[in-house]
Amino acid sequence: MPLESIDLVDSIAIALSGADIGVWDWRTGEGMALVNERWCSMLGYAMEELDLTGAKWYQLVHPDDRKIVMSDTSEQALASPSGQFEVEFRMRHKDDHYIWVQSRGKVVERDASGAPTRFAGTHIDITERHRVDEALKQAHAAVLLSEARFRNLTELSSDWYWEQDNHFRFTEFVGNLYASLHPGQTSVGKTRWEVGSLNFSERDWEAHQQDLRARRPFQNLEVLRCDPDGKPLWVSISGMPHYGPDGEFLGYRGVGRDITAQKATEETIKKLAFYDALTGLPNRQLLMERIKDTIHGCKREQHCAALLFIDLDNFKALNDTKGHLVGDLLLQQVAVRLTANVREVDTVARLGGDEFVVVLKNLSDNQALAAVAAKAVGQKILMALNELYNLDGFDHHCTPSIGATLFAGDDQDLDSLLKRADLAMYQAKADGRNLLRFFDPEMQAAVAKRSALEAALRLGLQRNELCLYYQRVVDAQRRVIGFEALARWAHPERGLVMPLEFIPLAEESGLILPLGASVLRQACKQLAAWALNPITRHLTLSVNVSARQFRQRDFVGLVSGVLRDSAAPPQLLKLELTESLLLADVADVVAKMQELKKLGVGFSLDDFGTGYSSLSYLKALPLDQLKIDKAFVRDVLDDPSDAAIAVSILTLAQALSLDVVAEGVETEGQWQFLVEHGCKAFQGYLFGMPKPVSDLF
Ligand code: C2E
Ligand code: CA
Ligand code: CA
Repeated sequence: MPLESIDLVDSIAIALSGADIGVWDWRTGEGMALVNERWCSMLGYAMEELDLTGAKWYQLVHPDDRKIVMSDTSEQALASPSGQFEVEFRMRHKDDHYIWVQSRGKVVERDASGAPTRFAGTHIDITERHRVDEALKQAHAAVLLSEARFRNLTELSSDWYWEQDNHFRFTEFVGNLYASLHPGQTSVGKTRWEVGSLNFSERDWEAHQQDLRARRPFQNLEVLRCDPDGKPLWVSISGMPHYGPDGEFLGYRGVGRDITAQKATEETIKKLAFYDALTGLPNRQLLMERIKDTIHGCKREQHCAALLFIDLDNFKALNDTKGHLVGDLLLQQVAVRLTANVREVDTVARLGGDEFVVVLKNLSDNQALAAVAAKAVGQKILMALNELYNLDGFDHHCTPSIGATLFAGDDQDLDSLLKRADLAMYQAKADGRNLLRFFDPEMQAAVAKRSALEAALRLGLQRNELCLYYQRVVDAQRRVIGFEALARWAHPERGLVMPLEFIPLAEESGLILPLGASVLRQACKQLAAWALNPITRHLTLSVNVSARQFRQRDFVGLVSGVLRDSAAPPQLLKLELTESLLLADVADVVAKMQELKKLGVGFSLDDFGTGYSSLSYLKALPLDQLKIDKAFVRDVLDDPSDAAIAVSILTLAQALSLDVVAEGVETEGQWQFLVEHGCKAFQGYLFGMPKPVSDLF
């Protein structure tokens, strides 16, 4: 049965139920609660399902909230003059879950002492609101937690956090490192460009500000500062714009990181990759970059540039005789001198070994003037490198050969550019060393021809196009005592090619090694064949051996192998050496000769008188024979000094108990002269041209 008071406000109760509001009335003395339908349905019940007699409604309150319901309600009711209160608590739903209820009410009746005896009020289901509140609370807690975490982390890590206002002025820095890197100094209130950086130009800052104005995030901005001790401090900065709840731009924030150590490592790696460890000069790789840059520069500024290719003369000999450490000292001093003789903008690089390259930038736009300037620098370098070197206590003189070429903005092929300078350098060597030579196109044509010939010779060797001609050697009675084997190349199209056309090329390209071995095999085969015939068994055979061939590592093994395979008599084989052999390690030459001598092989010194002819060497070498060069023989009747040379060679040979062969004897007069002065062996057109073996006898 509804209560009076509720009856009184029946219309209001109806309005309330439409508004989803539960209504209750509780008399403390009677322990009975009266409620409306909504009050029940909020908990999932129909009116008649609930027995609210006694204080049974109280059982529906969540156990944890019962105290709130009782004490908070009465406390509030007592505290407020109108006896009003408002509490929130959970009540059990019929489905066994709890809903949140907001209960608002007031004291309706009191007893004589003023203690409340009757309350009435409303219930609203605030479960949903609670859920949202709870979620917000959790989210907030999470934010607090993550912020705390973030602060912890920035304190631990090498990074720091920064914030700027909407005028890009710093407002905050968080992180220990920032403070330790900038003790007592703060950038707060300044913009990044006001703080400044050692590696930023006006243009760089402008680019950065453009990013900021466009509200673009930026990453890994590398800024160079000084630390408090004045040491370089590299900082990497990333940042992004941040906005307020209404989308208004608040400024930038981001992180900074000390990357000084990383930069140092990068620098070391760069050094290793781009610089020569011995001299500290740029290496080939960096040189290529610099040349590329120079070409771009030439194009932009309409300038010429020059490349100098510098090779030290006889560097190998120094290395071989004094050791690599001394060689290294020389290279280091050369590097210093080169660097001292060019401008700051020029590049000095080491290609490896004793090869250096200098790039001269910003020469005149006029080719002729640029060439003059490059030549002047080249000559200066030549002089500087000619000065005496002090290598760990001993004085050393060394000369360079320098090849030069000009280039400009349209020169794109780096390899051919280097090759041009390299070619010119070779020309300087060929012209006598210690020279500067400029590249010219004829040089290139000659080289192209030479490399075509080299390819053809390589092929010719494979196809056994190399054969031997034989020229007789006669005694004073013009009897044949032996032959000299002379190489010929029977080229299928060009016909018979003479040795002067291909021997120097073979020596340069290394083809002399297979070529020389082939000559030696053919000659020994011939010698073995003659040995079988009583008429020819006494004939000696001379074979020319070039210096490079003699210096090859197992030359002794090669000769003994060929002798064994062919069964040629070793004592009839003469190896003709030239004085150029003596430019290198003489002790090694002597040792090899002695080993070969043990096999029975003889030695002849070819072209005697044209080379360095040191008499002390002559004594040291186990020689059997000297050959007077045909240049002296030719003019022996017309030129008194040539006659004198020929005569002194004959005297010298006699003193040293060496045989002498005069070569290039073409006339009876020459023959007469030589015989009169005691020469006992002769070679020349007068006695016979070089011929194939079938035409010899
Ligand atoms: P060489 O060792 O001085 O050989 C003598 C050269 O003088 C030969 O030239 C020969 O044909 C030439 N000759 C001979 N008699 C006369 C003469 O009466 N008047 C003139 N004007 N010249 C005469 P060839 O055959 O052209 O050889 C040239 C050079 O090539 C040789 O000079 C030698 O240094 C080199 N050579 C030839 N064959 C070989 C070889 O198998 N191995 C090596 N390493 N070098 C060789
Ligand atoms: Ca010879
Ligand atoms: Ca000769």
